[in-house]
Amino acid sequence: MFTKILIANRGEIACRVAATARRMGIRTVAVYSEADAGSKHVAVCDEAVLIGPAAAKESYLVGQKIIEVAKATGAQAIHPGYGFLSENAGFADAVQAAGLVFIGPPGSSMRAMGSKSAAKQLMEGANVPLVPGYHGDNQEPAFLREQADRIGYPVLLKASAGGGGKGMRVVERSEDFEAALASCKREAISSFGDDKVLVEKYLIRPRHIEIQVFADTHGNCVYLHERDCSVQRRHQKVLEEAPAPGMTPERRSAMGEAAVNAARAVGYVGAGTVEFIANQDGSFYFMEMNTRLQVEHPVTEMITGTDLVEWQLRVAAGQPLPKKQHELAIHGHAIEARIYAENPEKGFLPSIGTLRHMDTPAAVEFELGAFGLDPAAVRVDSGVREGDAISPYYDPMIAKLIVWGADRNQALARLSQALSEFQIVGLATNIAFLKRLVEGEAFSSADLDTGLIDRHGETLFPAPSPAPLGALALAALSLSSSEDQRGSANPAEPWAQAHGWRMNSAYRRVLSFADEFTGANHYQVGLTYDAKGWVIDANGERQQLDLVRSEGAELTIRLGETSLHGSVRRDGDLFHVFTGGRHYTLAYNDPMAHAGEQEAAGGRLTAPMPGKVVAVLAVAGKDVKKGEPLVIMEAMKMEHTIAAPSDGLVEEVLYQVGDQVADGAPLLAFKAA
Ligand code: ADP
Ligand code: ADP
Ligand code: MG
Repeated sequence: MFTKILIANRGEIACRVAATARRMGIRTVAVYSEADAGSKHVAVCDEAVLIGPAAAKESYLVGQKIIEVAKATGAQAIHPGYGFLSENAGFADAVQAAGLVFIGPPGSSMRAMGSKSAAKQLMEGANVPLVPGYHGDNQEPAFLREQADRIGYPVLLKASAGGGGKGMRVVERSEDFEAALASCKREAISSFGDDKVLVEKYLIRPRHIEIQVFADTHGNCVYLHERDCSVQRRHQKVLEEAPAPGMTPERRSAMGEAAVNAARAVGYVGAGTVEFIANQDGSFYFMEMNTRLQVEHPVTEMITGTDLVEWQLRVAAGQPLPKKQHELAIHGHAIEARIYAENPEKGFLPSIGTLRHMDTPAAVEFELGAFGLDPAAVRVDSGVREGDAISPYYDPMIAKLIVWGADRNQALARLSQALSEFQIVGLATNIAFLKRLVEGEAFSSADLDTGLIDRHGETLFPAPSPAPLGALALAALSLSSSEDQRGSANPAEPWAQAHGWRMNSAYRRVLSFADEFTGANHYQVGLTYDAKGWVIDANGERQQLDLVRSEGAELTIRLGETSLHGSVRRDGDLFHVFTGGRHYTLAYNDPMAHAGEQEAAGGRLTAPMPGKVVAVLAVAGKDVKKGEPLVIMEAMKMEHTIAAPSDGLVEEVLYQVGDQVADGAPLLAFKAA
């Protein structure tokens, strides 16, 4: 076995490979770009070497540089992960030529499967079922259209060199064929540098079912059963599960054997995946082979009790496969959800930013099921930590959440529970969307096909519903106690301190919040303190309110007769409230910070509540810029800044430091520019 390997990747997969290597006592060398100097994969490896600037083509894609680092650090083998150089046959050959081991298939297998057309020609010879279509060399538009007419519409045009869901066009009618062909070829040449296309029958409501295969250098080749990856957006996977719901033992072995035939036909070695497209009636066709480890490999690990990275390392070191076909049984059910930094409501647009707060569900990382034992119920594979950034340079995947259950229903329940516990603040994520998807009728009843997300838009993208009273109470309490902590000498008892607000017999304060982004819902949250304690009113409801316990961001409250738990994270004016398995983002409208905005027209900036002037920054007769602080007041133990509502001129300052100011009193005379 190797004593040291280099991991030619970053993020989640680099960390995942490092974890197995560590367990096996193998040292690891990380490579990283300038953008990744402080990243998790660098921290978890034993050594790390900088290989270039942030852009992947100047760092993670520079094969020669990576090979030099491997030699210089004494690594014996290179693990390519997925993406980047993992399916680059030239890189695999170069690694070998340098006297190192490439942890993956031979370059020749990659070349054979690299072109979808050539792969289909090969598969025809190996008796692997193919989608009806044309995958030959003749690229004449008129000829291709004849082929489409013969196959019958709708047809799918695919870039032969395509990948990642790109370079595909559905054609509904013969009249549309030529325009679609031209646009498909344009995308193919610009994305893959090759405009060769193939034509396929476009299946209606198909499922994506793939088979994990593994081959060694001793002539053994097995399949580790199937994964269903039908739930996709833009032809990219969102949820993956194993085994595939509704699969029969007969069809499983038929697909498994077809996949093994496909691998054998190209002299395959190592981990690979044969992707099939299946009709609802169970008939299936070869689609393509991915000659690498797949993002969704953990679901296979969970149901088979294997560590596929360990298998990769063993095979690359020349050992035989750890298990024979008849030893590979299926145990329970596993589902993976990909947590992406993206905005599902805005067409799944990636979002970039800093992970200001990240809480993952209680998980045992890489605790793979040993013989006779259940695998970890919840596993989180991620390449980032709190404080890390999701940059525009790389894949926006934040983490993979993988759950195991004795059956599909248990796995589903665990997944929705774990999604409720996954908290991210700082950028948009698909967590809430995933939760709706997992809990929705279509997925929970396993009514699967690749159009599931598009077909269920109404339930998956509901109109934003207003935040419930409990969420508003948590935000309001969090705000009040943080204000109190700032102003009080004894922050240990914020709620006791808050009683100090009482000035007369009853004290009332109104806090104004709105939904983030949409701004669809506005909330006026009233907090009243009287002889009987606190009362909250909002959304037309009114309840007695008590703080039972608070510890950091965690709060337990009593609202009327019910007790409620939640956590609140503040990010500037945004209050992120996590409660009842949901995440509410409430924008706090600070009356002091925005006071000037409404008052500007009248030429006077006024104090919206009684308080004391603690600083005067404005100077009469001086021009100021919009947003420049003019006066700072203290009210309710909190400082409030009165800022210039626009560019303009301060004409007169009406108060001095130390003055008490009445509610509504003009603070200064201001003229907008
Ligand atoms: P890529 O290389 O981009 O992964 P694939 O050939 O694997 O391309 O196809 C990606 C996805 O496109 C599939 O998972 C499936 O959703 C859809 N797809 C591919 N071929 C067909 C087809 N013939 N009919 C219907 N959908 C298809
Ligand atoms: P599959 O799910 O079939 O393995 P995908 O296309 O969804 O295939 O995943 C492979 C993709 O993962 C790569 O093309 C790349 O965009 C992305 N990727 C590459 N490296 C990483 C990484 N370190 N972490 C997360 N995603 C990555
Ligand atoms: Mg594919």
